[in-house]
Amino acid sequence: MSKQIAIDGPAGAGKSTIAKKVAKELGFIYVDTGAMYRAMALYMIKKGIKASEADKISATCGSADITIKHENGEQVVYLNGENVNGMIRTEEVGNMASASSVNGDVRKKLVELQQKLASETDVVMDGRDIGTVVLPDADVKVYLTASSKVRAERRFKELTAKGEQCDIEKIEQDIIERDYRDMHREISPLKQADDATLVDSSDMTIEEVADTIVGLYKDCGK
Ligand code: C5P
Repeated sequence: MSKQIAIDGPAGAGKSTIAKKVAKELGFIYVDTGAMYRAMALYMIKKGIKASEADKISATCGSADITIKHENGEQVVYLNGENVNGMIRTEEVGNMASASSVNGDVRKKLVELQQKLASETDVVMDGRDIGTVVLPDADVKVYLTASSKVRAERRFKELTAKGEQCDIEKIEQDIIERDYRDMHREISPLKQADDATLVDSSDMTIEEVADTIVGLYKDCGK
């Protein structure tokens, strides 16, 4: 049976940085499920579909072929055969991903892909519904969060480092709206699983958070 660590939490809590580090330390594969929702969102944007067009999203998501490969230790997302890693990290795609991920057909398709990956290999998987829906029997479940202010500051630094023009207040507002949508959607809302450990990273270093999670894994006796 493969080993599974599930990390859920709101946008910008540091999930991917932490999950990557924990995966490296334990020799597991890191699976970024947000990237899959982002690839699906990119597909919808390319098709000219709007976030509000739920019927079109349902009718179109079946033709998006999303696959994940691990190349040189990095997750690479392919959308209909094209490597889209360089195209999915914009605010436009993130906001569309948050809006289109409320769709049941989109979720069903991507959850199946995620469960298949986790059944084949030891994983650290991050997202919004990993501990609650995708991997309900994960060995370790963590709900990683931080204040919206701290998360906006981190996102601001990330985007400006890439040369993107942005406004920190707008980023915080987007984060608050995205959290609200993710937490209040009907299907698989973002919430802490009953058996998840809450970790607030607002005042913690990356190393402290990663050590906490590796410690939880070691304590679980697997
Ligand atoms: O984590 P990231 O910001 O890349 O995810 C983009 C969006 O995809 C999130 O705002 C969320 O709405 C959606 N998502 C999801 N379930 C997951 C991962 C991401 O609904 N497991």
